[in-house]
Formats: sequence, C-alpha cells, structure tokens
Amino acid sequence: MKDIVQREAPVLREVAKSVPVDEIKSERIQKIIVDMKDAMAIQKDGVAIAAPQIAVNLRIFVISGTLLKQADKKYKGDGSDLIFINPEIIKASKEKKEVEEGCLSVRWLYGKVKRSIRVTLRGYNEKGEKLERGASGLLAQIFQHEVDHLNGILFTDKARETWEMTDEEIEDLQSK
Ligand code: ZN
Repeated sequence: MKDIVQREAPVLREVAKSVPVDEIKSERIQKIIVDMKDAMAIQKDGVAIAAPQIAVNLRIFVISGTLLKQADKKYKGDGSDLIFINPEIIKASKEKKEVEEGCLSVRWLYGKVKRSIRVTLRGYNEKGEKLERGASGLLAQIFQHEVDHLNGILFTDKARETWEMTDEEIEDLQSK
C-alpha cells in the first residue's frame, strides 16, 4: 500500500510530467492507477487523488465515482471511477464561487477557496482515448484542485482562510 504524502514532501511542489500517450496502457501506468485507487479507498473523505500524492511525478488524477455521487446529488455518472491523464483545463468560467476544500495531503486543514463554477477539461482516459469533459459544481471544483496538484499547487496556497478540523470532527469522519 502506497502512503499519501503530506504537504512538506517536495514531490507535491513539482510540476508533474506528462505521460507519453503510447504508454498509458502499459503495465507501469496501469499499476500506478491501481495504487492511486487503493491509497484513496482507505480515506473516508477521499473523493479524488493526484499521482504526486503517492509520490509519483506524473500527470494523472483519479476521482472516486461512488463518493462523487454521494457528495453531489446532481452528479449523473454511474459511480465508476473517473481517470484523467495529462488533463488540461481549456475553459474556465470567469464566474467564481468560494467553496470549502480539504486535501488528503494537507491533514487536517480545511479552507475557503475561490473556484470557477464551470470548467472544461481535456485529456486522456486510462485506455488512452482522448476526452473532453465539461463540469460544474463539485466536479468542476475537483478538476481545478487536482490540476493544481499536477502543477505543484496546494489549496492552502489559494485559500483565503483555513482552519483545522477538531479531533471530534476527525473521529466522526473516520467512523463513518
Ligand atoms: Zn488535494
């Protein structure tokens, strides 16, 4: 099991490297995707994870389809995980909203961050197929948070205010 690295780790501050498209289906990359899913699965509030968070300096992120469905009733997906490789935000609404955010690599801080309410992401899926996807609400927020990770940015760099979760809140989260 790969550990999730915490905010002091230099890998979180690097600009992650693109995955060569002809290597997406390779055993090495597929194994990294499985490792990311495994690391995320044991975190009760882990709705998404970027490869640098398991100390892999590559442009990949994974979103838990089940947790996304639970957290956002408007989300219409079938609950399968979403995998994005070499993602790029090609459009972002000027309109922004301040939203609450946390991060598996910044335990146990939460904060308020301004995010575009709609974005369009372009990249590849785990089969090496090109994709383009528009999103609003929580999914748009996740896209921005995860692409930031791939550029060495943590939400605390952008947060207007941050606070620590209480022990009680953490216990509550872990007992769910
Ligand atoms: Zn994060």
